Amino acid sequence: MIQINENFTKLSESYLFTEIARRVKAYTSENPNADIIKMGIGDVTLPLPKACIEAMHKAVDEMAVKETFRGYGPEQGYEFLQEKIRDFDFATRGVTLSNDEIFISDGAKSDTGNITDILGSGNTIAVTDPVYPVYVDTNVMAGRQNIVYMPVTKENGFVPELPKEDVSVLYLCFPNNPTGTVLKKDELKVFVDYALKHKALILFDAAYEAFITEDNVPHSIYEIEGAKEVAIEFRSYSKTAGFTGTRCSYTVVPKECTGYDKNGKAFSLNHFWKRRQCTKFNGTPYIIQRAAEAIYTPEGSSQVMEIINYYLNNAKIIREGLTKKGFEVFGGVNSPYIWLKTPEKDSWKFFDYLLKEKNIVTTPGAGFGKSGEGYIRLTAFNTKEKTIEAMERI
Ligand code: PLP
Repeated sequence: MIQINENFTKLSESYLFTEIARRVKAYTSENPNADIIKMGIGDVTLPLPKACIEAMHKAVDEMAVKETFRGYGPEQGYEFLQEKIRDFDFATRGVTLSNDEIFISDGAKSDTGNITDILGSGNTIAVTDPVYPVYVDTNVMAGRQNIVYMPVTKENGFVPELPKEDVSVLYLCFPNNPTGTVLKKDELKVFVDYALKHKALILFDAAYEAFITEDNVPHSIYEIEGAKEVAIEFRSYSKTAGFTGTRCSYTVVPKECTGYDKNGKAFSLNHFWKRRQCTKFNGTPYIIQRAAEAIYTPEGSSQVMEIINYYLNNAKIIREGLTKKGFEVFGGVNSPYIWLKTPEKDSWKFFDYLLKEKNIVTTPGAGFGKSGEGYIRLTAFNTKEKTIEAMERI
């Protein structure tokens, strides 16, 4: 008789976006002429930068020619892309990495999920609350139920407190999804120091790094001294350059980054992650890596900046529009997400109000965790025209 992974029975049903879709469908079937503005799901709307499209076309043509055709690529990614990441994303910020510390992948979702493969089952995990649900669910799937929540709310200025318990793995996502808030260098340093002291590991999700506009907000955790020993960083081209449907990301695992067996013997996590990727992953397609490489050309980077600025301008419209109407809002300065304090506690009620009275779809904060109750998330990924219209409706 086949045995199931019983950990899957312990997962709470992920009903957030299904429930949103159900409510939107119910409303639109009764009101077929309603002009709905979507500010809920975090998918982008602008097309890929022209430089990426051109690079992809060129790579496709190479695949048609015997001399330039590529079969299986290196599991860790092509050096042409690793070099650009090393020089443009890190060296410019004073962080020295070698190519073999950079693992090209097909998504920060897969990597933040798959990283649990190299971590022992006895770890106590700390996550922020509200949280990107992948961190929690993938640990539950792997049989880890020891999860500590660090609230991130208006009351603590959206800066999580260090856990009171002795935790060994901490997930930090800044700029944060869903709150859109950031940690300053000294605030992030507190976590790095904790990890160094407790021999813990920080899984730092920097998927929204490209949206940072303010000084003193670290783009990489490795800007903090000592972080290479205790942190793995995840980056994504999804929101940066419109790659949500194209799929490319990368993960940095420094050679110094260390994990321990039960006797306290140290092991390099870089080696473990390489072993994991070589066994279970065959690399991101050549064509896609060429498209990602084009982001680092002068044309590519200015096209990407244009996209980011477009979304940041939408975020500003939302932030200022809502503030003018008397709402309390957070985020949206270094992030495409705006976190609105709802006038009444129930975030689903406010979601329904916006859907039915204003025809605007948002995401209720309660769907991201207990501390998300009393908030809703709006995204800046719609068009400028729709964003302005949504603010006028409110
Ligand atoms: N990490 C966070 C915090 C996200 O919000 C998302 C996407 O919404 C991801 C990772 C996934 O990114 P990718 O498209 O690279 O899988």
